[in-house]
Amino acid sequence: MDERKNLIGLGRDELVAEMAAIGEKPFRAKQLWHWLYNRGETDFARMTSISKVMQAKLAEHYVVRRPRAAQEMLSSDGTRKWLFAFDDGNEAETVYIPDLDEERGAVCISSQVGCTLTCRFCHTGTQLLVRNLTAAEIVGQFMAARDTYGEWPTPDDSGRQLSNIVMMGMGEPLYNFDNVATALKIAMDGEGIGISRRRITLSTSGVVPMMERCGAELGVNLAVSLHAVTDEIRDRIMPINKKYPLAELMRACRAYPGASNARRMTFEYVMLKGVNDSAADARELLRLVKGLPAKFNLIPFNPWPGTEFECSDMADIRRFSDILQDNGYSAPIRQPRGRDILAACGQLRSESKRAKCSRLKERLAAGIPDDHHDAPDAPVPAP
Ligand code: SAH
Ligand code: SF4
Repeated sequence: MDERKNLIGLGRDELVAEMAAIGEKPFRAKQLWHWLYNRGETDFARMTSISKVMQAKLAEHYVVRRPRAAQEMLSSDGTRKWLFAFDDGNEAETVYIPDLDEERGAVCISSQVGCTLTCRFCHTGTQLLVRNLTAAEIVGQFMAARDTYGEWPTPDDSGRQLSNIVMMGMGEPLYNFDNVATALKIAMDGEGIGISRRRITLSTSGVVPMMERCGAELGVNLAVSLHAVTDEIRDRIMPINKKYPLAELMRACRAYPGASNARRMTFEYVMLKGVNDSAADARELLRLVKGLPAKFNLIPFNPWPGTEFECSDMADIRRFSDILQDNGYSAPIRQPRGRDILAACGQLRSESKRAKCSRLKERLAAGIPDDHHDAPDAPVPAP
């Protein structure tokens, strides 16, 4: 087994400490940072500004590694999905959703294998948490995606296909905050990957005590999975609401550092037939967010075998959206993306590949829209 340490995932200070441990000065860390995160180089022998002797010393102690793509699928609409395998055999999915009109798009990244939460409408929620992903595995998902699109060295801001990051994959990012924060700080670093915090959105089911830290330390855009306007319904479909009820959640939203009219927070709302989709629900939603710089994302429910829910009728989703828009809010209905490759929320990762394939066939045959993705706010399924 390769005992060498992976340099990916170390923050700037950790890289300096790592170099000190092998008797090297801090400038070495700066030099490496450029090769690792701006150039995307994985081979020390090609780091030409570093002496041959030093290259050999680095290679003796370290490797530069991404997660391995165990599977990769490309949708007819350009959406691409990777199943990444980590060193211990665990897997998670990453999805790239290109913008259909422009040369840009969002990479949707997972933060955990599985999830400790048990939202009733989410297939990931039916599986237990396996483990948190490390910072290397989180930023590594983005770096591997960039490898696929050949976007090294880091292109300037205007010329990127992979222009945005959404933390909307498997898992609850605020329950793995330290690793997510390390990974996002690496991604945001202007001398490396260089994705501005304005182009990063983190989605949370409402982990109230972590929201302020997220805003203060990372300053990324926040998306809140609201999905219900009363504690009664939210308790039922999102058990985290019993711990952090709506009033507390809305208070934390109001206190979120950096939210402004120019930078609105997103409220995600999955449309569940007869559960949360009435005109009265829409009006109550308006009352809840009053005074907040908010926008909405209405997600048609993505059904999965055994679920108790159905997707709302399109007419009801439109009525809901109209009520919000008539009051001056942006409230788009997410269009399905990547449906032919199951780039959708709601696949059990513990299922065998064969079971997944047969379900894909069933779904396509039944014409079930299995996806609620839309760039740049796309969720990812459990693989
Ligand atoms: N755990 C985080 C981020 C990942 S889920 C969170 O919950 O916010 C990304 C989005 O997909 C969330 O808004 C989630 O509620 C939604 N989602 C989960 N299952 C879904 C389904 N079956 N259909 C539609 N949206 C779903
Ligand atoms: Fe976890 Fe998010 Fe799914 Fe809820 S919706 S179970 S928080 S991944």
